[in-house]
Amino acid sequence: MLVKEPDRGVHGETPGGRLVIVSNRLPVMISKGKTSGWDVSPGTGGLVTALAPILRDRGGIWIGWPGSPGVDAVELDHLLRSGGAQAGYELKPVALSRREVSGYYRGFSNEILWPLFHDLQTRCNMDPDNWWAYQEANRRFAAEVVECSGPSDTIWIHDYHLLLVGSYLRAMGVERKTNFFLHTPFPSPDIFMKLPWRDRLVRAMLDYDLIGFQTQRDRSHFIRCVRVLARDVAVRGRGRVVTVPWAGRGGKVGVFPVSIDFDFFAETATSDEVSDAAWFLHESLPDRQIVLSVDRLDYTKGIPNRLEAIRAALHRHPEMIGKVTFVQVVVPSRRNIPEYEELKTEIEGLVGEINGEFTRSGWVPIHYLFRSLTTRELVAYYRASEIMLVTPLKDGMNLVAKEYCAADIDEAGALILSEFAGAAAQMKRGALLVNPYDRNGVADAIHRAFVMDRRERRSRMKQLRRSIRTHDVFWWVDSFLECAAGRKLDAFPSRDTLPGDEPAVMGESPLIPG
Ligand code: UDP
Repeated sequence: MLVKEPDRGVHGETPGGRLVIVSNRLPVMISKGKTSGWDVSPGTGGLVTALAPILRDRGGIWIGWPGSPGVDAVELDHLLRSGGAQAGYELKPVALSRREVSGYYRGFSNEILWPLFHDLQTRCNMDPDNWWAYQEANRRFAAEVVECSGPSDTIWIHDYHLLLVGSYLRAMGVERKTNFFLHTPFPSPDIFMKLPWRDRLVRAMLDYDLIGFQTQRDRSHFIRCVRVLARDVAVRGRGRVVTVPWAGRGGKVGVFPVSIDFDFFAETATSDEVSDAAWFLHESLPDRQIVLSVDRLDYTKGIPNRLEAIRAALHRHPEMIGKVTFVQVVVPSRRNIPEYEELKTEIEGLVGEINGEFTRSGWVPIHYLFRSLTTRELVAYYRASEIMLVTPLKDGMNLVAKEYCAADIDEAGALILSEFAGAAAQMKRGALLVNPYDRNGVADAIHRAFVMDRRERRSRMKQLRRSIRTHDVFWWVDSFLECAAGRKLDAFPSRDTLPGDEPAVMGESPLIPG
């Protein structure tokens, strides 16, 4: 884990070059101060944790939108300087107008790409005006990269909001290598072809020197789109990284499943504070197995489907009545968007119905929390829960599933996981895989986990924890940057593929159709 051994001097193509991270949002929270003015606090989460030491060691810059809490430009500059000084790297804002936020962020990114990339194309609002806003915002991000970075820097752009930045950098005459990672899934050609701007987007993505996907399935979907939409482009090679030479350049497309800081979650789980909190949580629910779900409020997470599966589980397996408590944590997200408010109403209606149907004296089947938890609270819930139920309809990875395993220091828990989460590729042996659309199948998996004996749980959890410990977030950053620097990567073991993945061999000849 190179982050902990910075002397090895890898990470990136030019030793001494800085790392320039570009993402939609800056990794800081700007909020109203307790007494007056504004406060800035460093971001949290796996990505920031993994990148922060490298940014500090090599010298780095993070470019992103600071959000729009209504801070004036002078104050913002001051806040980001102080936030950057705390974090140990520079923070460079891309200021977006209200109109740009509406068209680029809310419109194109979240009403078109987000549902499309999660196979929910009927939710897309293909308003052509949003396309112009998306292009303009991506051009602004590219201009900021040109302004802030130099020829020896390694540029790493993140996620679906910024698919076009690499192509604008080329248009602006930037010759240095640009690298991109997609955190969401990439859809199959059948779905991607619905996008009116499909040709432009695929061509623009080919301007990156390295594109990373979460799973082989996402990578193979992208390659198939390239075959259909950019017929003059050859795809060569086999294994984790294939090359896509185009316009005289040798682009690479690879698989890099994002992960978590395993040691942090395992160590947090052993702390007295978390152990006590977990004990208290379980004390209030004696003689019951806790089945935990934790999701951001989002239609991709499949929360209503899951609640229906819980209802089915209680009907199909009545011996669980009074013996399990489902805890559903929903973290507020994208508030003030009518679709998300409707989803919240639907979830709360279902929780009320199911509790109304099954509650007995002294037992309520579903405990529902609509708020975000601190990391320690979250880890206490992980530790207290015998079963983790993770059933997104589609997910780039799903870090909650990995965090649960890392926090399960007793190796006594069971994980039920959607086969449509990117995490399933790596976790399919240890987890009970389910189709989130199959209500009875999920219900039966809950029962199977409920009756699973201690030996089986332990053996499955051991496997899961070993794999996540080896492939943690530091491994992820490292292997991406190693590949960006032109070094060869080890192949994944073949078990890290999903059912339905194409073989990793991509053919040797240019793919010119007849
Ligand atoms: N999380 C959090 N507070 C909460 C619940 C979750 O900070 O109250 C974090 C959790 O630890 C995880 C992330 O939110 O790192 C969720 O990541 P995931 O990949 O599961 O889903 P996403 O929200 O990115 O789609």
